[in-house]
Amino acid sequence: ELALKNPVTLPRWVRINTVKATQEEVIKQLALTRVFSLKEVGPKTYYMDETIDNLIALDSEVSLVSESCYQEGKIIIQDKASCIPAAILGNQRQTKVGNIIDGCAAPGNKTTHLAALFPDSKIFAFERDSQRVKTLQKMVDISGAQNVEIIHGDFTHSDPMDPKFANVTHILLDPSCSGSGIVSRQDFLLEDSEQDVVEDVNRLENLCSFQSTILKHALQFPESRYVTYSTCSVHRLENEQVVCDVLSQDSQWKCNSLENTLPQWEDRGIPEYCTDPTMAKSMIRCVPGKFGTIGFFVCNLYHPGRVGDLFE
Ligand code: SAM
Repeated sequence: ELALKNPVTLPRWVRINTVKATQEEVIKQLALTRVFSLKEVGPKTYYMDETIDNLIALDSEVSLVSESCYQEGKIIIQDKASCIPAAILGNQRQTKVGNIIDGCAAPGNKTTHLAALFPDSKIFAFERDSQRVKTLQKMVDISGAQNVEIIHGDFTHSDPMDPKFANVTHILLDPSCSGSGIVSRQDFLLEDSEQDVVEDVNRLENLCSFQSTILKHALQFPESRYVTYSTCSVHRLENEQVVCDVLSQDSQWKCNSLENTLPQWEDRGIPEYCTDPTMAKSMIRCVPGKFGTIGFFVCNLYHPGRVGDLFE
């Protein structure tokens, strides 16, 4: 079962932007008191997340837009699930850490997260949509990140052999998806099977094909060691199926077991959706509403030829 049938109340997740502020500073500025479980969070309290560094949960009703720390880019409103991809990539430091690509960047939540986690790397942030590239630029500016180069263009048209990308070792790929995991903070949730019926199958197949193409492209960069793929979809076509299809055509890449990042995370890929059911345990699913997050899928691929078989 992928989703809950009851209404959910998601907390207001807030990522502290360590480029501009510390946790202590933000908590003092917002005058918050700490509580130790998500259920206890109320109007003037916060819960410090145990999985993602510098992430706090506030009351779902709290409004932050008029707060100076929001306007100054010291905090970024970002669902916990959406913080997982950059956090995973940030933990892959067993071998060389060079530059980073964010292949699908706007509005820039994950780009700015990467910028904070990899201050010594250049982050190449691709965005093909001309309106969204402006939003991305704004978000990067407000975040204070100095290490982001925005590239207005289609990531699949980039040349992996371009000397500019010769030192790219880590790639984050969060392509357009159906958004079927997104629940507003008071939604009634459908079960996955029902959503599959309502969702247009043609649309999902087209998305699946686009997502496979863009993921295959990400695997072509000659020095890349880690590629994190994510969607905010609950559908197998956009998640397990994309990863399995791409890996079945490229034997140089494997699924990272994430032992060093999220060993305790209980919701994994769904074995029946994978060509090799053992791969499912290396995939992360966030079940909408279950731990206060939207629905999400994340998988980290690594290149054993460049990293070594660290996860065997
Ligand atoms: N990672 C973003 C974040 O956390 O804020 C959200 C990314 S959103 C799901 C996908 C973005 O990728 C959209 O802005 C879309 O315009 C862009 N996009 C889609 N296909 C692309 C491509 N081939 N090259 C570059 N950007 C693309």
